[in-house]
Amino acid sequence: MSRHPAHLDVLPPHPGLTDVRQRIAAAAAEAGRPLADITLVAVSKTFEPAAIEPVIEAGQRVFGENRVQESKAKWPELKSRFAGITLHLIGPLQSNKAAEAVALFDCIQTLDREKLARVLADEIQRQGRQPDLFVEINTGEEEQKAGIRPREADRFIAACRDTYGLKIAGLMCIPPADEEPALHFALLETIAKRNGLKQLSMGMSADFETAIRFGATHVRVGSAIFGERFKKLA
Ligand SMILES: *Cc1c(COP(=O)(O)O)cnc(C)c1O
Repeated sequence: MSRHPAHLDVLPPHPGLTDVRQRIAAAAAEAGRPLADITLVAVSKTFEPAAIEPVIEAGQRVFGENRVQESKAKWPELKSRFAGITLHLIGPLQSNKAAEAVALFDCIQTLDREKLARVLADEIQRQGRQPDLFVEINTGEEEQKAGIRPREADRFIAACRDTYGLKIAGLMCIPPADEEPALHFALLETIAKRNGLKQLSMGMSADFETAIRFGATHVRVGSAIFGERFKKLA
C-alpha cells in the first residue's frame, strides 16, 4: 500500500496564523455564524516577503496592504510563485495611483470620495478589470481620518452606483482608537443594511472578535499574525 509522505498532507503551521484562525472560529461559533462567512485579511504592511512567505505556506491567501508602492514592490513576485493570492488595499488611495491600484488589487476597501469614484470607474472601464469596492465610513467623524461621514453615506453610495456605475460590495471602518469599537461596528452594520450591502470590513488585532459578533465579513488582522510592526504606519 502506497502512502503520501506526511509533508504533502500537512501544511507547515504558522503560530500567529493558527492562533488567529482559532480565535476567529471560536468567535464565529459563539455568534452562531458560519465560519465560511468570515474572511481573514492578513495585513502584511511593512513586512518583507521573507516574513510573508511562511504565512502563505501555512495556507493563507488573502492579504491586505495599505500602500500602492509598497505592494507593487512586494506582491507581483509573490503572486507569481503562489497561486490564488487575493490582495486588498486597506489604506488611503490617491487618485493618481488609481490605475495602479485597479491593476494590482482584487479589492479596494478605501473608496472615500467622489473624485476617486470617478477615476476608479474610468480605470475599471479602461482596464476591463473590476476589483471589489468597499466604501470607507468615518464612523467616529474624526477630523484627521479618511472616510465618508455617516450622515453622508447613503447619498455617497447612491452616487457611486447611479452617477459612476460602480458596483459596491460593502463598507469598511476604522473606529477611533480610544472608543468602544462595538458602537462603531453596530453603526457600520446599520448603514450597510439600509443600503442593501452585505459585506462588512471591520475589526483588527485588538477587536476582531467583537467585530465578528457585530457581523464582520472581513477582519483585517496584522500584528496578531505577524507580530509588532517596527515601522509605525497609520
Ligand atoms: C494596519 C491596519 C490593520 C491591521 O492592524 P493590526 O492592529 O496590526 O491588526 C487593519 N486595518 C487597517 C486599515 C490598517 O491600516
